[in-house]
Amino acid sequence: MLIHTIQELRTEINKWKKDGLTIGLVPTMGALHNGHLSLIKKAKSTCDKVVVSDFVNPIQFGPSEDFDKYPRTLEEDVKLCDGEGVDIVFAPSSDEMYGKGQRLSNDTLTYVCPPFFYVNKLCGKTRTGHFDGVCTVVLKLFNIVQPNYAFFGQKDAQQVIIIKKMVNDLNVPIEIIQCPIVREDTGLALSSRNKYLSETGKQDALVLSKILNNIKTCYNKGITDVEALKETAYSFLTDKHDMEYLEIVDKDTLEDKIKADDNSIALIACRVENVRLIDNIYLKESN
Ligand code: AMP
Repeated sequence: MLIHTIQELRTEINKWKKDGLTIGLVPTMGALHNGHLSLIKKAKSTCDKVVVSDFVNPIQFGPSEDFDKYPRTLEEDVKLCDGEGVDIVFAPSSDEMYGKGQRLSNDTLTYVCPPFFYVNKLCGKTRTGHFDGVCTVVLKLFNIVQPNYAFFGQKDAQQVIIIKKMVNDLNVPIEIIQCPIVREDTGLALSSRNKYLSETGKQDALVLSKILNNIKTCYNKGITDVEALKETAYSFLTDKHDMEYLEIVDKDTLEDKIKADDNSIALIACRVENVRLIDNIYLKESN
């Protein structure tokens, strides 16, 4: 069932709550691919009822980012969700989410601001205000849907860590389930932004997962010095790659490391054909 308004959604949710059913929420910005579907499958196997939100959230995009051209494929998304047995696709307008005429600025709108330590690094360093926008929309969705469980991908590793922190700090009574990264056979992590890439661009984009896999291999051969591990990336890079960051940090706290250990995660952001791509890998466990 496709629902556009909070009121209609609440009516359905209230019926489920009355019947004592467990509810899972999968927040997305649409343009669904197999990565999203893996979250939906996990939600289906965990909960009685599943809501997928499909909303390109304006307040998590910076002024020079791709909000206007972000792929919007609602009709296809609904078909995919129907195929997975999703109970409700919630696709609100921006006015529905934030209020008609509401100026989308923290002068006039209540924002959720995650701690500086968590946002002043990795993606947050260049995407100023991005995680404020993410936390604000996610907490709103949590309050609208009131799920028992919410499902997030490790693909956006910094995001899921920040959301867990918000849930913990604000005593939000929802369990966050983190799901592994889904990749193409080539190793490329699935992303809605891959649609912007040409075939050559997709080939060049393989460098992200190659760099991460190589770092993992080197770590497992005994190299632990973070600078040495990061330097192994250079041999993969060409003039097609505009590297934004490559970092090795603690996988739960995002604390910097001098020596990598079994709790480390390597994260990369790199532009290919001016498309900003991100990926990450746990150095020890499989992912
Ligand atoms: P998005 O629509 O990009 O905001 O993503 C919605 C959710 O899907 C987020 O929790 C993402 O981490 C997750 N996701 C995106 N790509 C993948 C992927 N390749 N594998 C697993 N989860 C993903």
